[in-house]
Amino acid sequence: MRQPFDLSGRVAVVTGANTGIGQGIALALAAAGADLALVGRTPAEDTAAQARDLGRRAELIAADLSSIEPVARIVAETVERLGGLHILINNAGIIRRADSLDFTEADWDAVIDTNLKSTFFLAQAAARHMVAQRYGRIVNIASMLTFQGGIRVPSYTASKSGVGGLTKLMANEWAAHGVTVNAIAPGYIATSNTAALQADETRNRQILERIPAGRWGDPADLGGAAVFLASDAAAYVQGHILAVDGGWLAR
Ligand code: NAP
Repeated sequence: MRQPFDLSGRVAVVTGANTGIGQGIALALAAAGADLALVGRTPAEDTAAQARDLGRRAELIAADLSSIEPVARIVAETVERLGGLHILINNAGIIRRADSLDFTEADWDAVIDTNLKSTFFLAQAAARHMVAQRYGRIVNIASMLTFQGGIRVPSYTASKSGVGGLTKLMANEWAAHGVTVNAIAPGYIATSNTAALQADETRNRQILERIPAGRWGDPADLGGAAVFLASDAAAYVQGHILAVDGGWLAR
């Protein structure tokens, strides 16, 4: 009998897996047994090599998710090259920082297109396959700004609040078809997304003072939550947004 957290024989699409949280999650899924389709505009060579060292298959799929043009092809290529699609980790995302008084339409559209529009339409493309096979796991990457307002990141807050709502909506529609849809809300994780905050002495101190764990998170800290939500252990978990934040929201 399959162990509840075992992902062997499962194929996972991970977007933005060349670095940061996407890489951390991809390697955790591979360690749990999953084969990987690593989707992005920068080839995830290093992630693929590490997954292969673990004995998994890993395929690189080139795609720019600033538009939804590639979403159907991502699903088709995954199924063709890896023989199936069971798990989607909707991770690729960007952030633009500026005072709201000065925020530009370009910075609004860029973030909404990648973080919200592509997240929805890639989930839709994957779910068409998953609903037909009556099995699927979709995990969206939300944020503390799914729950809070943040500062100087209006399009990011809008996008991640939207991801929270869409996660619940998709769960409602696809739960009866064997597809679970959940999200992980990372706290403050040391990646290139947060490099500006880490480099700002004042903001860095303020952030660290508020995190009960007393440290920035590492991409590997997201692995356990991702494996859980991608596994059979989470079969009855639907529309949940799981914070992995060192206690930030508890403060
Ligand atoms: P990161 O290191 O900057 O990684 C972002 C990833 O998304 C990269 O692989 C990047 O590819 C990819 N990406 C961005 N735009 C893309 C596009 N148009 N097409 C394809 N791929 C694209 O940041 P991260 O912190 O790991 O962020 C990953 C996710 O976690 C994002 O959704 C982010 O909002 C979320 N998150 C991060 C934190 C945090 O504290 N770091 C907290 C909450 C949520 P390139 O390398 O080619 O740019």
